Amino acid sequence: MNSGMVYFVGAGPGDVDLITVKGKQALQQADVVIFDRLINPFLLTDVKDDAKLIYCGKQPCKHTLRQEDIQREILIHARKGKTVVRLKGGDPAVFGRVGEEAELLAEHQINYEVIPGITAGIAATMYAGVPITHRKHSNSFAIVTGHGSKKDGTPTVDWESISQGVEAIVFYMGIKHLKTISEQLMSHGKPKDTAVLVVQWGTYSKQRTVEGTLATITNKVQQANVTNPAIIVVGDVVRLRSKLAWFDNRPLSGKGILIPTSSNQNSEMVASLKKDGADVYEHELLGDQDHFNRKTVNELMKVEHDTELVFLSPKSVFAFLRGLVENGLDVRDIPLPFYSIDEAVKKTLQTIGIQSQIIDQSAISPVLIGDEVEIEMAKSTLSPLTKAIKVREKKLLHKDLAAFKRLLEERHVNTLLILSPADALIWLKFLDVAGISIESVYENVKIICKGIDTSEILKTSNIRIDLLIDNENVPQAIRRTEEAELALEG
Ligand code: SAH
Repeated sequence: MNSGMVYFVGAGPGDVDLITVKGKQALQQADVVIFDRLINPFLLTDVKDDAKLIYCGKQPCKHTLRQEDIQREILIHARKGKTVVRLKGGDPAVFGRVGEEAELLAEHQINYEVIPGITAGIAATMYAGVPITHRKHSNSFAIVTGHGSKKDGTPTVDWESISQGVEAIVFYMGIKHLKTISEQLMSHGKPKDTAVLVVQWGTYSKQRTVEGTLATITNKVQQANVTNPAIIVVGDVVRLRSKLAWFDNRPLSGKGILIPTSSNQNSEMVASLKKDGADVYEHELLGDQDHFNRKTVNELMKVEHDTELVFLSPKSVFAFLRGLVENGLDVRDIPLPFYSIDEAVKKTLQTIGIQSQIIDQSAISPVLIGDEVEIEMAKSTLSPLTKAIKVREKKLLHKDLAAFKRLLEERHVNTLLILSPADALIWLKFLDVAGISIESVYENVKIICKGIDTSEILKTSNIRIDLLIDNENVPQAIRRTEEAELALEG
């Protein structure tokens, strides 16, 4: 039988960069991805455009997928010969039910591989400044579920052994039963002043921590209103946090920044924002596809002989050439001078043996070759009346829309950073084709915009701008305003 392949992949605890290289490669190859609620939504933007995404968390108007349904889905797709990724938060073997799911595949002789991930109990603790083992303070640790199979969910563990036998204990899924957990540990001999740390949303920029002792932690957590996902760490190694907390309190801690981009040329800025403690989600929110048919050929054939053909991006150069060939033509059939909008396009044309000049205002009757956003941008610098032939078009991909919605709904994003007029146009186009109202996005999000030109475009669509950065370095400006706001609050 031509069965597919199933990869059980640990996605890591939250920070999108904490997935393994091997896990990421499997994800990029997947035809089907079946993922849990705790997966950072952004990871799912890095899959094939046509990958089928199946969410096991709560869906609008639907219940959570039950374990049997999940297993059935894995089987169905694997049997069709697909590459399936079962993506799980943290590590698949730590309260991730990989045992049951793999067992089923083994029974049905379906190939699978397990790609481990970084589990929350190790990563969230260390991001909070607590090394889970330490020569002086913690020679053993236990990973324990804080949720049992009893009807009320209270954990069923050997309290005596874990209270007496291990130095540090990490409870998963335990926040609801924190009171029971602390009481059980104390009544089985753990001193009531044993240090306890609760870490919520560990490794995300929005990570929160509450520190106390077995006697005080329940009240403190209630007051701070900490909910899942959170781990509870019990043991005096927690006290090291006062010296070792490295992740909290960085200038941009708590910031989740979405950069809708058209260029992917912001890597230095993204690195700087991340270094300052922000989560950064930089992504081309709209995909694209070639748009070149007989009609395009006719348009092209009709252009006058003194026309300058102006290519607007490297991608559009290639779409143009592909389109010609697919329609039985050759680039040598086009008797017109080639122009480029900038140096990058000029270089692209050179690599395929075509000389071009960079267009300027002296052009007599240019015809623009690009996608709709590139054309709009070029018209704003040349003339609104410039003629154009669209060879690519923007396209909304389900995976991007789903990820974007969850990033906002789950409050991973609280800042939108728009870096150029082209990015502003992409952003507006995305909202438009996705049918998302501007108000629904902006309620909990601060809008930062770079450059007067960018702000002009946003203003024409009545978009509120909370911070306009003009001639300043972006990370510096964001840091400066954050500090000013903190000072005001403080
Ligand atoms: N397989 C996962 C655990 C799944 S059980 C792993 O290895 O991490 C789900 C529980 O994991 C949550 O209830 C919470 O206790 C813990 N958890 C997962 N992600 C977390 C995070 N980012 N911060 C804190 N706890 C987390």
